[in-house]
Amino acid sequence: MTLDPPTMLTISVALAAAAALYLAVEWGTVRERSLLFWSAGFATITVGSTLALLRMSGLLLIGVWFANGLLVVAHWLFLLGVARFTEARLSKAWYLIFVAWGALLLLPGEPPWSKAVFVLNSSLVALLSIRASFLLRPHGKSLSVGAVQLRYVLLVHGLFYVAKVLTAIVPGTLIDLASLGGAIIQISLVEGAMAIMLIALSMTGTERYRREKRIARLAARDPLTALYNRRALEVRAPRLLEEVSSARPGALLLIDIDNFKLVNDLHGHIAGDRLLIALSEMIRAHLPEGALAARLGGDEFVILLGDAANERVVALGSNLREQFQQTATEGFATPEPVTLSIGAHLFDQPPASLAALIEQSDAALYASKRGGRDSLRVVDRTRAGSEALPAR
Ligand code: GH3
Ligand code: MG
Repeated sequence: MTLDPPTMLTISVALAAAAALYLAVEWGTVRERSLLFWSAGFATITVGSTLALLRMSGLLLIGVWFANGLLVVAHWLFLLGVARFTEARLSKAWYLIFVAWGALLLLPGEPPWSKAVFVLNSSLVALLSIRASFLLRPHGKSLSVGAVQLRYVLLVHGLFYVAKVLTAIVPGTLIDLASLGGAIIQISLVEGAMAIMLIALSMTGTERYRREKRIARLAARDPLTALYNRRALEVRAPRLLEEVSSARPGALLLIDIDNFKLVNDLHGHIAGDRLLIALSEMIRAHLPEGALAARLGGDEFVILLGDAANERVVALGSNLREQFQQTATEGFATPEPVTLSIGAHLFDQPPASLAALIEQSDAALYASKRGGRDSLRVVDRTRAGSEALPAR
């Protein structure tokens, strides 16, 4: 098989069209605007390469720079897509470059214009690619695998165009722009086909990875309070529980609001929601490092501690109860006090399961409810025998 320019251009047309279509279909499901920009970029390359191919076959007479100019437009669209993806704001200068380029397209294809336009054309492609690559550098938070890949593909692509510019401006290098048989043009076409594939693949990877992360985050969180839900707790608890030993006892606190229905009944469901959110914020604020918190459902919450002494559990439970009672009393007048009942269970051996642990704390919570609510019951199984410490 010969990699002659018409063959390479045909391959480029096919690849760019497939990439444009694929990214458009992705946009159809994800509705992320960056995918539209990227799809439009590849559609532009499809049009540019088709025009170049037709021109080569003598079927259509278009300016020699038109197809190359479209390459700049395509990279400009790629940059817009990356800016959209990274939520970065591009300065107005980037739009002016594009306008200036439009005017240059009207220049004739003969020397000395040809070399100047070639240099400018390649410089713009390099600049746009490298700028897009720089937008994707990590800003404090780590980048997804797809985004890192896209960043480097764009960087290498941009550097390739820098090399092209250098070959044109370094003295002694002569490029026969009139003939498409030149080695540089052949290499460019091969690089172009590879770049289309790699850029398109990493663009889809970038978005897919982000979407998967978003879905996983949504699936793990309780929508009202954004705390973990029961399923997410079940997934994360084993690692914490495995490390439990007599030197590092664990604790599970099961929290239930007392008389919560009264808030709903007297102040409305939205007020009830607000109180649930307030409690979740208190829990988050008091949560020690490495501990897990979740909303099991309704007005029931759980805190799982990996390194907990009895005093620490009592202090945590008492702080929460105090703060919650104050917030509930100030915010919602009710005939019965809206307070917290907490059942806590301390253990120094990895339990059979999280469910078994919750069940044990539930017994302590039930004791608190039966004993008149508004209390913390601790069952400490870290020493021989067990003792129930009512701590008001
Ligand atoms: P107790 O003192 O025995 O705990 O009684 P309670 O009034 O707190 O009621 P209980 O814990 O038995 O039931 C929880 C109530 O919470 C039942 C339900 O109406 C309400 N609830 C459950 N989920 C939500 C929610 O997402 N938002 C609001 N506003 N209320 C909820
Ligand atoms: Mg309740």
